[in-house]
Amino acid sequence: MVETLKIQVQKTDKSRKAQVDFNNLPFGKIFADHMFLADYRDGDWRNFRIVPYGHMQVSPATPAIHYGQSIFEGLKAYRGKNGEALVFRPYDNWKRMNVSADRMCMPYLPEDVFMEGLRSLLKHDRDWIPSSEGSSLYIRPFMFSADEYIGIRPSQDFTFMIINSPVGPYYSTPVKVKIETHYTRAVEGGTGFAKAGGNYGGSLYPAKLAQEKGYHQLIWTDGKEHKYVEESGTMNVMFVFDNTLVTPSLGDSILRGITRDSVLALAKHWGVKVEERRVSVAEVVDGLKNGRLTEAFGAGTAATIAHIELIGYEEKNYYLPPVEKRKFSNRVLQELDGIKRGLMEDPFGWMEVF
Ligand SMILES: *Cc1c(COP(=O)(O)O)cnc(C)c1O
Repeated sequence: MVETLKIQVQKTDKSRKAQVDFNNLPFGKIFADHMFLADYRDGDWRNFRIVPYGHMQVSPATPAIHYGQSIFEGLKAYRGKNGEALVFRPYDNWKRMNVSADRMCMPYLPEDVFMEGLRSLLKHDRDWIPSSEGSSLYIRPFMFSADEYIGIRPSQDFTFMIINSPVGPYYSTPVKVKIETHYTRAVEGGTGFAKAGGNYGGSLYPAKLAQEKGYHQLIWTDGKEHKYVEESGTMNVMFVFDNTLVTPSLGDSILRGITRDSVLALAKHWGVKVEERRVSVAEVVDGLKNGRLTEAFGAGTAATIAHIELIGYEEKNYYLPPVEKRKFSNRVLQELDGIKRGLMEDPFGWMEVF
């Protein structure tokens, strides 16, 4: 791609990289040396810049803080053989960011602002991409309203940014999840399909209650009847019943996950039977009881594939077969990891070299 965007670069004069233990990375607490910013003013994106990562000043009247007009993305880069950045499906993140922007009355973000911003940022922070197994550079693009106005209306000014965080594995063990039948993450007509900040603020309390009972995460159900499975925490959820891969079909209340889409594409490519449809809680619980449900996992960028160890429902815990026995989820995890690291063929053209 031709460099079209004029980006001003102010490099850090003191890299923090030497202080980081790259063999022992926590998730989301360490940030690379630089960040990318762009301002939306008078109806146009401008002032493209890379500056040292650090705190910034915003008005106390910023609507993003008060009303949550704020959206984000998450994607990962892996280190290639020659130190290049291998980025997984960034165009899909860019497209989804615009779906979120539209729902939240935020401006369209042009492709070159996202891609050239990211390309340039990765050029400066390339050495922050970890190479050890299970680690990668988590990329967080986000956009927030930046008016100085506390009335409730769509803003006119916005800021788009990208920050990078070298990360290790998200979950270190298979996860314990509980089927939530009271609280709701998202409803038809709501904002669940957008990666909008407020969706996550509202999900913390029910997740906390489950964590107090020893679970890692919830399985969210539909907001109307709590009879149908939707997502697991901040991941899409997938099941294997009798060798068929089953996952809830997309709608307003389900985030259109890129990992979900990738798993479905690989499954079809391998000739595995796939069903995208409504998945009832009753069916999942029956499958746990009669052994027809052999695998369950969350799918998302941060965790990739998170094996589900057990599912709690109405005060009872149901265990799934041991992780070593799960043919499909182990195969898909290996294949995705291989593609992302440039070690396996990429039949769908998912990887971009930055
Ligand atoms: C980000 C996210 C996912 C996973 O999407 P990916 O594109 O695979 O990372 C799933 N559910 C929710 C609620 C999310 O926020």
